Amino acid sequence: MPRRIRAVALPGDGIGPEIMDAVQRMLAAAGARIDWEECEAGAGVALPGGLPGETMDAIASAGLVLKGPLQTSLGGGGKSANVTLRKHFELFANIRPARRLPGVVTPYADRDIDLVIVRENVEDLYAGIEHMQTPDVAQCLKLISRSGSRKIAEAAFALARAQGRSRVTCASKANIMKLSEGLFKEAFEEVAAAHPAIQSDHMIIDNLAHRLVLSPESFDVICTTNMNGDIISDLTAGLVGGLGLAPSANLGAGMALFEAVHGSAPDIAGQGLANPTALLLASLMMLRQAGLPSVAERLEHALYVTLEDGKELTPDLAGPTGIDAGSTSAFTDRVISNL
Ligand code: NAD
Repeated sequence: MPRRIRAVALPGDGIGPEIMDAVQRMLAAAGARIDWEECEAGAGVALPGGLPGETMDAIASAGLVLKGPLQTSLGGGGKSANVTLRKHFELFANIRPARRLPGVVTPYADRDIDLVIVRENVEDLYAGIEHMQTPDVAQCLKLISRSGSRKIAEAAFALARAQGRSRVTCASKANIMKLSEGLFKEAFEEVAAAHPAIQSDHMIIDNLAHRLVLSPESFDVICTTNMNGDIISDLTAGLVGGLGLAPSANLGAGMALFEAVHGSAPDIAGQGLANPTALLLASLMMLRQAGLPSVAERLEHALYVTLEDGKELTPDLAGPTGIDAGSTSAFTDRVISNL
């Protein structure tokens, strides 16, 4: 019998509660023994920043979190709760795999896409130092440190070694931001020199975006800065079928937070249309991190059978006509019946 683990669940905003409920049902049906501590976070919390002290304490104590999307206001004041969580718990590594999934129809369905983006998660333009210089000029500071860059490069090589991957590509804009992105590239190359068994190379981020569209199967591990990683990971999600399928892990020392790449999807919230697969795949990363790989494999297999069957798929996967599309709960029931 798999051992029992303890985790915090943050359902979050928009489609968050629907997909969290679906994922918790699938995990329970697969036999994952998880003591959930459900906590509040996000726009529904009447508190600036959306993160109550009890939620922060519960996360600190459990060290393991499954998180729904948290809404962030565009422009204006107020810090993003997502950025606050990453900074507060020093979740410096954001791991975003993109892998071809069986049965998912995309222009790339016959390409063997299996790559992982390792994104630096606390520095760069996300350091939160932004101000108005004059009423008409705004400034945002891009902070890159050698130690932060070395840390994420080490994480990328460690992931490559652990997953039996052969190449790590550094992606930067060192040709233009010679000091900041240049420092990231330099630190990567220092770390790469200490890992001769794994191939390494460097690409300018815009060329990498172009190569990802032309030959995504040629990439293995991509190590990049915060902003670059945020953008290209939505691109790689698109290559394998869309945001409804893209999971992510935020890792720090003794702390791991798993979530979908996507946001709160306000356009479809509350309608039973959301695809829970991205959060499900994130929960499988959580199970593996917590030492429960057999439950993760069982659930992953049931998901693949469901996707291949093509019945009760949520509208984002059901093709342009949407005929025969299923709801979040019908898709969830299908996965459970395929366990
Ligand atoms: P979004 O990712 O929420 O949605 C983009 C598009 O993808 C929408 O059309 C949406 O319907 C679709 N989509 C997303 N997830 C889906 C799913 N599971 N199933 C089916 N379709 C799905 O991006 P947005 O609309 O730009 O952002 C909405 C809010 O989410 C904003 O406040 C943003 O700041 C926040 N956000 C949060 C996170 C996070 O919590 N990590 C990440 C990204 C965005």
